[in-house]
Amino acid sequence: MVIFIGENKKMPPCIFCNILSGLTPADIIFRDELCAAFMDIRPINPGHVLVVPISHAALLTELEEAACGRLLLVAQRVDAALRASGLKCEGVNLFLADGRPAGQEVLHVHLHVIPRFAGDGHHLRFHPAYFKPTPLADLEKNSDLIRAHMGGS
Ligand code: AMP
Ligand code: ZN
Repeated sequence: MVIFIGENKKMPPCIFCNILSGLTPADIIFRDELCAAFMDIRPINPGHVLVVPISHAALLTELEEAACGRLLLVAQRVDAALRASGLKCEGVNLFLADGRPAGQEVLHVHLHVIPRFAGDGHHLRFHPAYFKPTPLADLEKNSDLIRAHMGGS
């Protein structure tokens, strides 16, 4: 079945758009005009939630500002709900993979809200070079490149 979603008619069907339009079942816990939150089908820990914009955007940079801001507010509410829920939740990780090389599998922006607890067995791994602080002069070479594209407030 070919489903046309959004403005680009050549786009392949998007699983999260299908969930939002009711074509694909999902366990939705929140929805407003800008964002929705539903249970991740492959939870890292029980209670793992995805917060997504209603309007399709593949990358964070493609998301309009209002939806981008609301995404974090909804994640904050999910965070509070997880901590109050009775599920095992001693801390929370927010994670957003922006682009394939960053680990994004589903090309519809989504913010993972993942309950964490001591001994849950999950770890972020970094290259050993990460643990050595970078001299400020070297940081500044990079910050100059970024600052030039930050735009106004
Ligand atoms: P990412 O690797 O950051 O793109 O994460 C994609 C997430 O979407 C994974 O954690 C998947 O388990 C989750 N996912 C994929 N399909 C579904 C679905 N039909 N319902 C709920 N979560 C899904
Ligand atoms: Zn989509």
